[in-house]
Amino acid sequence: MSVVAPSHYASHPPGREVRRVFLHCSASDGEGSPYEGEALVRTVRAWHLARGWSDVGYHYLIDHGGRTMTGRPLGRIPAAQRGHNTGSVAIMVHDGRTTFPPPALDACRALCGAIDAHHGGRVTFHGHREVDPRKTCPVFDYRALLGLDSGGRMPAADDVPAPVPPPKPRLPMDHDDHREVAEVIDEDAWSIEALAIPIDTPLGRTLHARRERSLAIARQIAAL
Ligand SMILES: [Zn+2]
Repeated sequence: MSVVAPSHYASHPPGREVRRVFLHCSASDGEGSPYEGEALVRTVRAWHLARGWSDVGYHYLIDHGGRTMTGRPLGRIPAAQRGHNTGSVAIMVHDGRTTFPPPALDACRALCGAIDAHHGGRVTFHGHREVDPRKTCPVFDYRALLGLDSGGRMPAADDVPAPVPPPKPRLPMDHDDHREVAEVIDEDAWSIEALAIPIDTPLGRTLHARRERSLAIARQIAAL
C-alpha cells in the first residue's frame, strides 16, 4: 500500500478485463489518525480480514485529505460488490462524521478520470447501490461528481464545451452615431404613438409603456 497519484492506474494496469468501476464509501463514522493515509488502508483491511477475506476488498481508498492509497492489487478482482466483482475496479472514499470534503471528492474524480482515459472511455462508473438495492453506498452524488450519462459513462474529453469566444469589440461610436441611434428609437416611439391605440386597453397600456421606455433610452443615448 502507498499513497499514489491518479497516474498509478496507467502505470500498474490490472492486466485483466475491466468494464466497470464501482464507487463505495466506508461505513465508519470515524475520523482521525486510524482513518488517514496508509492507516486508513490498515483499518479497512483489518475489517475485511475479520470477515475472513484474504485482503482489503478495494483497490483504492481515498481519505479525508484527498490522499489516494492502493489496497488490493489491481490484478486481482475486488471483494466489494457481491456478484459483480468480476471485470471491476473498486474505489472507496472515506466519509467520516462530516460530509465528504472537497479534496476527497476531487481525488475520486481525478482517479476515475485517469481510469477512464486509460481505457479510452470504454468503462462505466457505478455506485455500489446500483447492484445492491439494500445499500445506500456511496452516499455522495457520484453521478454529478463524475458527470455520468445514464449509462454510467464519463464525458469524453472532446465533449467538454468549447470555451465561449470573447465578445467582439464594439465599434466606437462618435457623437453623431449616438444622435442617429437616438433618433431612430425616438421615431420608433412616436410611430407606436401614431397607431392611436386607446390608452385604456391592455395593448394601449403595453405600447405606451414601451414608448416611454424607448424615449428614455433615446434621451440617454442623446446625452452621451
Ligand atoms: Zn459499498
